[in-house]
Amino acid sequence: LLRETVAVFNSGEGAHTLSIEASETLPCARVDTARLRQVLTNLLSNAIKFSPQGGTVTVGAKVEGEALKVWVKDQGVGIPPEAQLNLFSKFFRVDNRDTRSIGGTGLGLALVKEIVKAHGGRVWVESAVGKGSTFCFTLPLSSAPHVGNVEPQGSATQLRLLANTNNQLDASEKLL
Ligand code: ADP
Repeated sequence: LLRETVAVFNSGEGAHTLSIEASETLPCARVDTARLRQVLTNLLSNAIKFSPQGGTVTVGAKVEGEALKVWVKDQGVGIPPEAQLNLFSKFFRVDNRDTRSIGGTGLGLALVKEIVKAHGGRVWVESAVGKGSTFCFTLPLSSAPHVGNVEPQGSATQLRLLANTNNQLDASEKLL
């Protein structure tokens, strides 16, 4: 899934270098693929659009304790400490000289948080202004006890939170 999502963003002739930092043999995490793809897409598109000077965007994954830790790291404008507290709230956008001209809805990260939470994981940011940002999230490994809102049974994992939503618009509406 990481490779597929990065490939989508790698297809153009952008100013960014995309790289993956993960071993070939990660253990399984039970996820809703469509929702997780949306999480990665939101984080990757933010990493690119908030790095107007280009640079490297790294997507990584590794095992940490009972969870898989995934991160998207950029070398972009960064986020002031006071804004980091509100970042995952609906409609919140940083409004400063670096970001004013960059478009968006302020919904992407709120959706990321809800989806990660529904999987039993958590999400956070580490960032320094002018240096870049790293968005991290965790997903319980398949062998870990079930703690999230993901149905434990069945071949196709369903998120109760987003049940019956099959596209991005529906998911955003549900969140609202
Ligand atoms: P949007 O990108 O549509 O504005 P998001 O919810 O995805 O909405 O992000 C909220 C805000 O968080 C953004 O407007 C931006 O100020 C900040 N942000 C998100 N990702 C990054 C990033 N990688 N680098 C710097 N700022 C970011």
